[in-house]
Amino acid sequence: MTGPLRQARIELGAVRSNVAALSERAGDAQVMAVVKADAYGHGLVPCARAARAGGADWLGVALLEEAMALRAGGDTGRVLAWLFGPGEPRLEQAVATDVDLNASAPWAVAEIAAAARAAGRPARVHLKADTGLSRAGATADDWPGLLDAAMRAQAEGVVQVVGVWTHLAWADVPDHPTVGLQLERFAAAVAAAERAGARLEVRHAANSAATLTRPDARFDLVRPGIAVYGISPVPDLGGPADYGLRPAMTLSARLALVKRIPAGSGVSYGHEYVTERETTVGLVPLGYADGIPRSASGRGPLLAAGALRTVAGRVCMDQVVVDLGDDPAQAGDEVVLFGPGDSGEPSAEDWARAAGTIAYEIVTRLGPRVERTWVEEGDR
Ligand SMILES: *Cc1c(COP(=O)(O)O)cnc(C)c1O
Repeated sequence: MTGPLRQARIELGAVRSNVAALSERAGDAQVMAVVKADAYGHGLVPCARAARAGGADWLGVALLEEAMALRAGGDTGRVLAWLFGPGEPRLEQAVATDVDLNASAPWAVAEIAAAARAAGRPARVHLKADTGLSRAGATADDWPGLLDAAMRAQAEGVVQVVGVWTHLAWADVPDHPTVGLQLERFAAAVAAAERAGARLEVRHAANSAATLTRPDARFDLVRPGIAVYGISPVPDLGGPADYGLRPAMTLSARLALVKRIPAGSGVSYGHEYVTERETTVGLVPLGYADGIPRSASGRGPLLAAGALRTVAGRVCMDQVVVDLGDDPAQAGDEVVLFGPGDSGEPSAEDWARAAGTIAYEIVTRLGPRVERTWVEEGDR
C-alpha cells in the first residue's frame, strides 16, 4: 500500500455544504465562516475558498497574520480579525488590505485610527461588548468611553463603526439563563451605539452553537466555526447529521510494523497494557507530537484491521500501539483514527470524550508533521 504514512484528509465539499447548511439555518443573517487556527486545523486557504464557495459572506480570524494569510491566498472579501495587542505591527497593512478590525478598548480605536491615517484610508471597526463572558469586549461601564473614542475617530473620517458584537459564555447550553441575559445586554449596547450615531451594518453574537439553537441570537450575521468543519458544537444535543453537517477531516495512518507478541507482554511505556494471550500488535505512527492527546492513553478509539479498537497502553511522542488480536494485518495497512463515520470509524468527538476534552481541541492541535490532503468531494 502506498500513500502518506500519516495524513489528515480534508473534504472541501463537506466544508462547502456545511457552510450552505449553516447559511440556510441562519435565515436572513449573513454568515461569517470562522477560519482561525488554520481553519481549526483543516488548512486556512483551501477551507476559506470552500467556505466562500458555500456562501460565506465573511471570514473570521483571531490574528492579523491570519487575515494577511487570507489576503496572500487571494481572498478579497470581507474578513474580520479580532485579536491584537498594543503596538501591533500589522495594523496598517490590515487596514490597507481592507480587513475589518475589532476594538474592545479606546487604545485599540486610537491605534486603528493611526493605522488608517498611515494607510490613507478609513478603517472599518466592530466594537465589542463584553456582555458576560469577561473575555474580549468593553463592559457596560466601559462602553460609553469606547463609543466616545470610536465616534470621534469616525467624525475625523479615519474610522467607520460598522459593527457591534459580542460572544456568549454558555451557547452550548442553549436554555442557560445567561444566554438571554447576554442578549439583553447586547441589545442595550447596540442601542447605545446607535444613539451615539453609529450606522451599523452588522450586529453579531452567535457562534456555531447559537447559530444552530438560538434564532434570537442571529441578528444580522452569525459566526460559526466548529460547525463549518462538520463537528457538532452541542454534542449532547445532537450529532453532525442532526444539523445537516458532515465532518470534513479524516485522520489516518498506515501501520509501520505488525508483529506477534506473547501472552503477558507489557505494551508501551509503563506497561499499562499487558496482553492476556499471544496476539498481533500494530504500530500506528501518530503520537502526542502530532496532536494525539496523551490523556487518551488506553482509551483512544481507532478502526484497525476491520474492527473498532482502543489504543493499547500509553500514547508515545510519535506512535501508539494497537492490539489486533488474531485478525490479519500487515505493515502498510490503513488505520483510521477519526472521520465522518462512513466506514464505521470513530469521530473526533469520540476522541474528545476519550481524552476528556472537546472536539475543537482534537482537530486544532494536530501537528505540522501530519500531512494534510485536500479533496474536492464531500457534498452531502
Ligand atoms: C472562535 C470564535 C467563534 C466560532 O466559535 P465556534 O464555537 O467554533 O462556532 C466565533 N466568535 C468568536 C469571537 C470566536 O472567538
